Amino acid sequence: DIGKNLASNLNNEKTIDIWLNSPVVGVFSDGLVGIVKEGKYVLVKPERLLITTGAREKTLAFPGCDLPGVYGAGAFQTLVNRDLVKPTDKLFIVGGGNVGLIGAYHALQAGVDVIGIVEALPECGGYKVHLDKIKRLGIPIFTSHTVLRAEGKEHLEKVVISRIDDKFRPIKGTERVFDADTLLIAVGLTPVDELKNQAEEFGLKTYAAGDADIIAEASAAMFSGRITARKILMDMGFDVEVPPEWEDMVNILRSRPGPVKGIYPPPKDKDVYPVIRCAQEIPCNPCTEACVLQSIKIKEPTMMGRPQFEGDCLGCARCVSICPGLAITLVDKRYDKTKKTARVVIPWEMPEGTIKTGQSVKTTGMEGEVIGEGKVIAMKKSEWQNRRTLVSLEVPYKEANLVAGIQIKKPTDKKSIPRVKEPTDDEIIICRCERVTKKEIKDYIKKTGTRDINAVKAALRVGMGPCGGKTCTELTMRIFREMGIDLKEVTPPVERPFTQEVPLKSFLREKGGKK
Ligand code: SF4
Ligand code: SF4
Repeated sequence: DIGKNLASNLNNEKTIDIWLNSPVVGVFSDGLVGIVKEGKYVLVKPERLLITTGAREKTLAFPGCDLPGVYGAGAFQTLVNRDLVKPTDKLFIVGGGNVGLIGAYHALQAGVDVIGIVEALPECGGYKVHLDKIKRLGIPIFTSHTVLRAEGKEHLEKVVISRIDDKFRPIKGTERVFDADTLLIAVGLTPVDELKNQAEEFGLKTYAAGDADIIAEASAAMFSGRITARKILMDMGFDVEVPPEWEDMVNILRSRPGPVKGIYPPPKDKDVYPVIRCAQEIPCNPCTEACVLQSIKIKEPTMMGRPQFEGDCLGCARCVSICPGLAITLVDKRYDKTKKTARVVIPWEMPEGTIKTGQSVKTTGMEGEVIGEGKVIAMKKSEWQNRRTLVSLEVPYKEANLVAGIQIKKPTDKKSIPRVKEPTDDEIIICRCERVTKKEIKDYIKKTGTRDINAVKAALRVGMGPCGGKTCTELTMRIFREMGIDLKEVTPPVERPFTQEVPLKSFLREKGGKK
């Protein structure tokens, strides 16, 4: 919806020409930019060039990483969110950052069985509210684990994971095997900046915004676009400025989440109130604007503070509807005069039919711990969020403050299944275009003692394929590091000119009525 709104705003600007289906295919030393405009090659000479090419995903190399069914979280999100395709039944995810956590949540919303998430670090790096909402549904999170291999004949069938030590080495005997048909790799993003680098090299007045500049959340990308637009106008001599508060805001939106500090306790003297489980400093504050009584406040000077409830509550559940982290529930103790039970309203976004009115459910606490049993007494579409349902649960009175969600996935069997076969370097494909294995690269580095990635490239063709070394270059650098070689000693690759494959017919011109 954000994209549609932005596009419709631009469509209303009569002075802006929008060229759809028109990729930039090169930027040249004479300051010209080549574009295939709806199939025809054209050259433009921009006064200023703003690059907003976004980011591409980083990847991992392990045996089976090139099997069909192993792909980047961005591709998966595009299929699920944009194309409304359900591309998998059983999904496993590598990476506990926001991309992996949100990917898992979107998959669950699409009715996919999410088997688990592995994260190499001892803690997931994504926002705690996103992590908690996954845990509450019962999805297992394996921290300090990595994916060891992907297995399958023609398509992914199994994922093997293993615990790792503090040097990220797999620990023997801790392997576990899961059936899965899709494995998402969500291990971070890197700016798509080849065009920007080349334009700068050729002296074009170049600017970047969004992920092409700095990787951050979508809200930061939109804000940085506004700021960069103003900067371009200023450089062109227009009488505008960038308000200092815009710079402050973009810095906040780009900041990493702060420490987890715990939640403010719910009030003891009220019968109806929200319980806000937002324990970490994150750039978020819609809850503070949701409450008509202004009873939810962030007292710290910036939106990075933690919200707290203070004052009166109408029991409207607007805050429950609006919180993007699904971190707020509403407790209504007026429900049962005998004080045996209470009503708890929780936000719900799972597919229709996952739970039904009248059903008994297993309730979970803030971080997915099982609290007890509850009964679904009502389900109502939210008036404020079209994709959210407000589920009223009847729960034991004493558990009302603790209940934060409903478990939909049963805990997995904790038993490890040790695997004899260890991954070997000759099974790991580093350059997919040229089919070069990790073993070949390591052997070449050992044999020649080279510290130049260009030498590896010339000898083995790593990075010479049509993708232009977009994934294997970084993986090859990692191999140098794994071999104990200081990356400062390694000569980086010569950057390939930014080009894209273009059909020859794009260059044809009409002359005298003939092509
Ligand atoms: S339930 Fe309504 S009145 Fe109560 S805190 Fe939330 S938004 Fe405010
Ligand atoms: S809306 Fe409020 S409670 Fe929800 S995640 Fe944002 S800051 Fe936290």
